[in-house]
Amino acid sequence: MQTITKIVTNIFIFCLILLSGCSNFINNSKEVKNNMLKNKKFIFTFLSAPGAGKGTLAQQAASKLNFIVLSTGDLFRQHIANNTTIGQELKKYMDKGELVPDDLVISMVKEWLLSVKDTDRQIILDGFPRTDVQAQKLITLIKNNLPEHNFRVVKLEISKGEITNRLVNRRVCPNKSCQAVYNTSMPEIAAGKCLKCSSVLIQRNDDKPEVISQRFDVYYKNEDELIKAYQDSGINIEILSVSQKTPDQIFEEFKAIL
Ligand code: ADP
Ligand code: ZN
Repeated sequence: MQTITKIVTNIFIFCLILLSGCSNFINNSKEVKNNMLKNKKFIFTFLSAPGAGKGTLAQQAASKLNFIVLSTGDLFRQHIANNTTIGQELKKYMDKGELVPDDLVISMVKEWLLSVKDTDRQIILDGFPRTDVQAQKLITLIKNNLPEHNFRVVKLEISKGEITNRLVNRRVCPNKSCQAVYNTSMPEIAAGKCLKCSSVLIQRNDDKPEVISQRFDVYYKNEDELIKAYQDSGINIEILSVSQKTPDQIFEEFKAIL
């Protein structure tokens, strides 16, 4: 009887030791995972139709989380505003809602990415890549020149009807150093002036209804091949539903997946 009690006690002690070892191991591996995430550098891109709110989300990540953002649309509009040679070329496509040719976009993004390649900050590419060729070039560029960065694709999901409404009602501040974005439903902008710098708000040429439908056609045509390019390269597409959500809610959900 005594031997049986001894054996049972020993088994019990053995199990306790085993359990504590396991939990230590689990805790350690959790810690390792957290540290890995903390040290990880990311390059995010948002897969979303025009008007889904990727620009606003990128701006929030920049101001609240110190991310660096390259918005190809803003970069191109700056060239147009400064009437540079490139700007004159870009305007031809943008005013019609067409995509700027891949070669031109890729060389501008490449120059920018190389200029920030040693940064410790997280990066967002807003509006790039937009075609499968741009996606493939970017993936190669990251592999070769920014190997410490991990590429992440986040799809902002929302219906076409909801964003058409938003785009038609979007007003922007034309002041290059401000570029605030508003919606005509906001009573504060009834006077048509920017709340930050008092410039007279404008509607972007490409937010006019006829150009919007062209931009949608271009977007949905490219989305399929973009998704395929990511799948072919083994890149997971993360989903963030942005329907009926305020910019702040979307930002909170984005933070949760970081
Ligand atoms: P939105 O996302 O609201 O369409 P953007 O400001 O991102 O607007 O882009 C405005 C325009 O700039 C596009 O319609 C297109 O003509 C041009 N553009 C921006 N990014 C790219 C890109 N990656 N490839 C080709 N054209 C681009
Ligand atoms: Zn302004």
